[in-house]
Amino acid sequence: MEEKCVCEPNEILIFSCAGSSNVGQIANLAAVRLAQEGIGRYFCLAGIGGHISGMIESTKAGKMLIAIDGCSVGCARKTLEHTGFNIDEYVQVAELGIEKNHNFKLNFPDVEKVTSHLASRISKRSGVSYHLEKIME
Ligand code: SF4
Repeated sequence: MEEKCVCEPNEILIFSCAGSSNVGQIANLAAVRLAQEGIGRYFCLAGIGGHISGMIESTKAGKMLIAIDGCSVGCARKTLEHTGFNIDEYVQVAELGIEKNHNFKLNFPDVEKVTSHLASRISKRSGVSYHLEKIME
C-alpha cells in the first residue's frame, strides 16, 4: 500500500522569496493563495534568514516544507538550506515560463499557474485533493 503523508495544513509550511521583481512578487502571491486555500501556512523567510529562534523552532516542527523562488538565484531555497532545512517541494516561478522583469505589472493568471502547480505537487505528496477557489482576479 502506498504511504500517504498525514500532515495537517498547519504542518505544511510555505516560504517564498518575495523578491523585488515580478517573479518574486508572484512567488509571494502564490504563497498567499496557497495559505488562503488552507493548503498550508505561509511562514516568514526573513525570520529564517535572521535566525529568529522562535521561527527556527516553529519551522523544525513543520512536517512538509514548501519553497517558492522567483528565479534561478534561488534565495528562498538557499536561505532554508543554509539554516539546515530540507525542502520537500520547490518551484522557481521563472521555470514555469514566466519571464523575470522589474516593472511589477503582475499578471494574476501567472499567480494561479504557480499556485495550481504547487497545489498539484503537494496533493501528490500528501494524498489530499485540493479544489482551488479563484480568489484573486
Ligand atoms: S530568487 Fe530571484 S526573485 Fe527571488 S529574491 Fe532571489 S533574486 Fe529575487
